[in-house]
Amino acid sequence: MERHYDLVVVGTGVTSAVATRCREAGWSVAVIDSRPFGGTCALRGCVPKKILVSAAEAVHATRDMGQIGVSASTTAIDWPGLMTFKRSLVDPTPARTEESWAKLGVEQFLNLDRLPSRVVFVGGGYVAFEFAHVAAHAGARVTVVHRGARPLEAFDPDLVALLVKRSRELGIALEVGAEVAAIDAAPDGLVVRARQAGVERRFETDMAVHSAGRVPELDDLDLAAAGVQREKRGVSVNEFLQSVTNPAVYAGGDAAASGPPLTPKASHDAEVLTTNLLEGNRRRVNYEGIASAVFSLPPLASAGLTEEAARARNLRFRTTWQDTSGWFNTRRVGETTSGFKVLVAEDTDRVLGAHLLGPHADEVINIFAVAIRLGIPAAELKDVLFAYPTYGSDVRFML
Ligand SMILES: Cc1cc2nc3c(=O)[nH]c(=O)nc-3n(C[C@H](O)[C@H](O)[C@H](O)COP(=O)(O)OP(=O)(O)OC[C@H]3O[C@@H](n4cnc5c(N)ncnc54)[C@H](O)[C@@H]3O)c2cc1C
Repeated sequence: MERHYDLVVVGTGVTSAVATRCREAGWSVAVIDSRPFGGTCALRGCVPKKILVSAAEAVHATRDMGQIGVSASTTAIDWPGLMTFKRSLVDPTPARTEESWAKLGVEQFLNLDRLPSRVVFVGGGYVAFEFAHVAAHAGARVTVVHRGARPLEAFDPDLVALLVKRSRELGIALEVGAEVAAIDAAPDGLVVRARQAGVERRFETDMAVHSAGRVPELDDLDLAAAGVQREKRGVSVNEFLQSVTNPAVYAGGDAAASGPPLTPKASHDAEVLTTNLLEGNRRRVNYEGIASAVFSLPPLASAGLTEEAARARNLRFRTTWQDTSGWFNTRRVGETTSGFKVLVAEDTDRVLGAHLLGPHADEVINIFAVAIRLGIPAAELKDVLFAYPTYGSDVRFML
């Protein structure tokens, strides 16, 4: 049967909000997904992950506070109990949206009924760090094997160095410059084989997790048949999110080769797509100041430009950077590691980039995201009367 629609949306993730808006405007709309309705963030990404991170945070906080007079002897993650709780929050999403698809869940780390005692993560990006910290706090022996010279390449190198040191103190083995060549079966599990500085390394494990980056699922769409140009990281689009080779096709979120593959970007793209579909191309994408976080323990967060990116744009800026492990707000919760780096433009005094590591960095970064996106000068941000003593109140001392 063939039917004509004004709009066909492939995928039911964050970007698919465009379907609702166009339907509300009177368009005929079809939505297709090859997996349970809800998309990556709600079912297989940010949401279930944050539930596991919350449990690890409780263990982390209690252990840290054990150093400062809070009894921490019995705090531990009950993995099956945590999974049951996670399913109670996450599973209703596909059930509500599309009941008949609900049983087609995909196995990955987020659905393990039992946590293996040894886990190797292949790749040292943010997903690897987050799950490594969760697994380590749940009692697993964790190794992260990363090909490059340093992990978390998109983040500030000085803060990453602090986080790497802290991760090692927490018992996470981190191997850099190690390229994985094969994963073989072994009598009692798996062996991950890698080459590191010309030497073969073997990492014995019960489970190996692929965390070496994600690419959008575009191969099975046969885009070439419709004359739609693509790159490895997505459909080639212009600033209106329209295919550069087929004007009847638009792409947003992870599927578009534009901006970072993150939920706030997908959400922004849905807004841009809605305007451009309903009113013609008149809204351009603007990812300036987009905030992101690594939900490690402690978290690492970033908004705006890194020093490297600011230099590449020939911007004149001043950098304030400090290891703040000795600051009150870090020490009062027993944490040992924190720091910040803030970039401010010399000519306009605008905040260009902010990079934070430490307790609640994932929340405080939003203050900087507001300043960057709205162009609030550093002097004005410094003048805000934040509640004291909160983590937000430290922002004034970072400018
Ligand atoms: C483990 C993990 C943790 C993450 N954590 C964070 C985080 O903390 N913060 C953050 O901002 N981002 C995070 N992300 C990234 C975030 O989830 C994505 O950027 C976001 O979900 C992208 O939304 P989307 O709508 O573009 O695509 P998706 O939500 O991926 O939706 C695409 C949908 O299209 C469907 N589909 C694909 N191909 C076809 C086809 N041929 N036919 C039919 N259907 C198809 C898929 O099944 C999927 O449901 C995480 C991702 C992962 C995997």
